[in-house]
Amino acid sequence: MKKAAVIGAGTMGNGITHVLASVGISTNLIDISPDAIQKAVGTITKNLDRMIAKEKINPGDKEKTLSNIFTFTNLQEGVNGSDIVIEAATENFELKCNIFRDLDRYCGPDTIMATNTSSISITQIAAQTSRPDLVIGMHFMNPVPLMKLVEVIRGYSTSDKVAQAVLALSVKLEKIPVVVHDYPGFIANRILMPMINEAVYSLYESVAGVEEIDTIMKLGMAHPMGPLQLADFIGLDVCLSILNVLYEGFGNSKYAPCPLLVNMVRAGKLGVKSGEGFYSYQTGSKEMLPSIRFRK
Ligand code: NAD
Repeated sequence: MKKAAVIGAGTMGNGITHVLASVGISTNLIDISPDAIQKAVGTITKNLDRMIAKEKINPGDKEKTLSNIFTFTNLQEGVNGSDIVIEAATENFELKCNIFRDLDRYCGPDTIMATNTSSISITQIAAQTSRPDLVIGMHFMNPVPLMKLVEVIRGYSTSDKVAQAVLALSVKLEKIPVVVHDYPGFIANRILMPMINEAVYSLYESVAGVEEIDTIMKLGMAHPMGPLQLADFIGLDVCLSILNVLYEGFGNSKYAPCPLLVNMVRAGKLGVKSGEGFYSYQTGSKEMLPSIRFRK
């Protein structure tokens, strides 16, 4: 793989672009928003500087990485000549379907079309194209330059050749790929989200408070972060939407989102990004919220 395109310059898109460019792959970063592109290049530059300060790379590596990045606001121009396109645009079913219909028109006959979706069916996305054998899930974790895992999701029609090529690319990116099949939530979110939901239920039923639940999971299970703090980082709206995918996809009430989670999303309490979730982030650091403090 010599040439790649990344669609979406947000949190994930800038990280994916960073790791592709750092191993010498010429990478076109595409976003409809010029501001998002500018911010992404700024973030990549800052992250490379941090790596220089930690002596993980040298200034020459930084220049080489940045010289492999090209930016576009036009999809057709951006994907031209790519061996692989990795879509990391906003998590919205209709939006992703439209992008893949366009990719089907603009990409070369052998271009692999990957999506970084957290929860949307790869098979359903692939069905928007005339070549579902070339479509695959490549689920990177946040922050991409640091996290080792790539969950590689085979859609119903993904070919062996495409799966092998994506595994080889992941290894080249110094990641550890794990192959799974396309069922709701894949593996990462199928296991993580019910744990977060159970933590919210425990709070809802006043079994324990926010800090107690997080402390038990951190100290007792050696998790680096408690499930409620993790939910705040992921975004409570994102957690709710993935739980709904699991609930609808399996038709099993064990995935039903806790009413407290639903209420918090309705109230706009989305976690770190809105300044308040299970904790308050108004002052820039994590604080307990009196409103959901547990009575001991
Ligand atoms: P984000 O909101 O930070 O960025 C999305 C970007 O997509 C924005 O810059 C937006 O302008 C751009 N965009 C929207 N429509 C577009 C279009 N038609 N063409 C080009 N660009 C377009 O989102 P994110 O957190 O980076 O998530 C991106 C994808 O990665 C989602 O599918 C998400 O589920 C998945 N994901 C996110 C995380 C995470 O922790 N954030 C982890 C794993 C996977």
